[in-house]
Amino acid sequence: MSRARRLEAWDKKYVWHPFTQMQEWCQEPILVIEKAKGSYLTDTKGRKYLDGISSLWCNVHGHRVPRIDNALKKQINRVSHSTFLGLSNVPAVELSRELIGIAPKGLKRVFYSDSGSEAVEIALKMAYQYWQHQGKNGKKTFLRLKNAYHGDTVGSVSVGGIQIFHDIFKPLLFKTYSVDGPHRFGENFKGSESQYADHCARRVEAALRKHHRNIAAFIMEPLVQGAAGIILQPRGFLKKVRALTRKYGVFLILDEVATGFGRTGRMFACEHEGVSPDILCLAKGLSAGYLPLSATLTTDKIYRSFLGRYDEFKSFFHGHSYTANPLACAAALENLKYFKDRRVVSKSQKTIKHLARCLEPIAKLAHVGEVRQKGFMIGIELVKDKASNKPYPLELKMGACVAREARRHGVIIRPLGNVVVLMPTFSFTHSQIAQLCRATAQAIQTVTEG
Ligand code: PLP
Repeated sequence: MSRARRLEAWDKKYVWHPFTQMQEWCQEPILVIEKAKGSYLTDTKGRKYLDGISSLWCNVHGHRVPRIDNALKKQINRVSHSTFLGLSNVPAVELSRELIGIAPKGLKRVFYSDSGSEAVEIALKMAYQYWQHQGKNGKKTFLRLKNAYHGDTVGSVSVGGIQIFHDIFKPLLFKTYSVDGPHRFGENFKGSESQYADHCARRVEAALRKHHRNIAAFIMEPLVQGAAGIILQPRGFLKKVRALTRKYGVFLILDEVATGFGRTGRMFACEHEGVSPDILCLAKGLSAGYLPLSATLTTDKIYRSFLGRYDEFKSFFHGHSYTANPLACAAALENLKYFKDRRVVSKSQKTIKHLARCLEPIAKLAHVGEVRQKGFMIGIELVKDKASNKPYPLELKMGACVAREARRHGVIIRPLGNVVVLMPTFSFTHSQIAQLCRATAQAIQTVTEG
């Protein structure tokens, strides 16, 4: 048996994959990735694929960036891990300073963890504990957008609402308040963008007016709800939400796990509207897609409320074995330097425009209801009937079929239900962008038009 076939057999025998129906997985041929370079992944059979989703939205400058590889090698020669509980480490300290330097105004402290879900858990616990310190004991739940996704741990699922992922866990979740988020395509709203922003903000205000005494924070992704299906918010909505959360004395937690690090065309999505949250959650692109690392940033006001004598027990009792892992922090530090030295975000504007042009033919396909793009985040909504925007039944797994077909064209993409997601890295050349869009269009046509 070849090595490639042996590895495939061992995977099917020993491994349990995330978000995967393993019964189907075990019956299908699978790709085992062996190596990568730039925008391409190579499997154990030597086949090369364009990484069209930035390795689940994590990678930012391509694979094996020499500067980041070298920073990691240097760090390995110093120390790979030591605890952050009771000790500090060099790259984590330096990274914190850099992060605060680029963060939205007012964010002054960095709390590390290992995944986006944890960054969200920490944000929720911080906000909750702040209000407990203030004696506002009623403020113990959260307002969230109805179809939100903030991760898979129990706290982050509690503030999420993707039905097919989360319904079964309902009995385990804590109570939250929810409000319909913007989804112009889904609502078929006919007015202008600013009317839609007003309409959506009114819903938020109604919920805050009614429940603010019980709400510690409002959590949302700014500008784009990623895993909900790359759903875009109307311009001005975020700014209105910021004003409303201030008016009603509720913290604003922005989850920029997906939108952060240039993905929307600005370093952080909230910069598009000049908004600063009280708490910001970061992960994915933070370490350039190299290692698991996340961070929860907050203001002096929140941080200071945790200060006091030990026996007041106001410390933030939260931490993980690998919190602020030096290797992950070294990768992140070099990542931020790379962003700065190469002016990656400003240079990426040209690629974003090219991407928009390459997406135009996709929007015209017979079974594409809408193409949504914000920077490098793209959602292609497949519909059964274009005239009425009638969706395909989810059981047909149309998005998954398109992703599977795209592999035959040498491209890795991943769907979210009926939405085909594209998420190239900043390092994609114009011809790689064209290849990604062409392969996606061909795959959509083959699957939807036969
Ligand atoms: N928040 C958002 C907006 C996300 O998109 C994700 C993951 O896709 C998460 C949180 C969870 O991050 P992780 O998968 O690193 O736990």
